[in-house]
Amino acid sequence: MKKIIITIDGYSSCGKSTLAKQLAKKLDYIYIDSGAMYRAVTLYFIRHDINWKDEAEVKKALADVHLEFVYNPATAQADMHLNDENVEHLIREMLVAEKVSEVAAIGAVRHFAVSQQQKMGNRKGIVMDGRDIGTVVFPQAELKIFMTADPAVRVERRFKELYEKNQNITIHEVKENLELRDYIDANREISPLRRADDAIILDNSQLTMDEQLGLVLQWVEDAIMEHSS
Ligand code: C5P
Repeated sequence: MKKIIITIDGYSSCGKSTLAKQLAKKLDYIYIDSGAMYRAVTLYFIRHDINWKDEAEVKKALADVHLEFVYNPATAQADMHLNDENVEHLIREMLVAEKVSEVAAIGAVRHFAVSQQQKMGNRKGIVMDGRDIGTVVFPQAELKIFMTADPAVRVERRFKELYEKNQNITIHEVKENLELRDYIDANREISPLRRADDAIILDNSQLTMDEQLGLVLQWVEDAIMEHSS
C-alpha cells in the first residue's frame, strides 16, 4: 500500500503522541516526536547556561548540539539522544517544560530543528507530531490532523502522566505550564501554532482511544485512496 506523511499538530497534552505512536505501530510507519527536539535543545541551553536572548550565542551553541532518535529495544520506541546521551526522561521534566516554548520561539532554533525534520521526511511512511508540522515542516503532507481537547481534560491527563514519575508535582503547576506553553506557541512570531487550512480537526474530549484510532485509520485510508490516483 502507498505510504504517506501524516502530520499531527495541536495544543499541549491533547494526546498527539499517543495517537501518533498507535498509528505508527498499526501502519508500520516511523513516529517522530518533533517536540523532543525542542526539549533537548532547551536542556542543552539550560545546562550550558546559554543566554538565549543573544542570537550569536544561540547560533554558536547550536553548532555543538547533535540530536538523534535512537531505537530502544526495551520500549520499542525511539529515545532522544543529545550529544550521544539518552535524555528521553530528562527532557520530560518540569525544568525543561517551563522553558521549552521560549526556546522554541527562537528563529535559529526553529531553523535548526525544521531542517532536520524535513530530511527525516524524505522517505514517506512517517507520522510526525508537533505544532507546525502541517503548516511549515510538511505543507504537502497527504493527511493533516489538528488535535484539540477540553482544557480541563488535558490538564488532568498531563497531571496523571507526570505524577506517576514525580509525586511532588501539583495540578496547579501543570495547569499553569500548559496555559503558558499554549499561549507562547500560538502567539509567537515564527510559525505559530495554528491549524493548516486543509487539516482535519480531531476533538478527542469525548472519544475513547479505540474510537479515536478507528476514526483516524479511516482518514488514513481515504487519504491514501485520494493520493494514489
Ligand atoms: O510536543 P511537546 O509538548 O513535547 O513540545 C514541547 C514544546 O516544543 C511545545 O510546547 C512547543 O513550544 C515546542 N514545539 C514547537 N514546534 C513543534 C513541536 C514542539 O514549537 N513542532
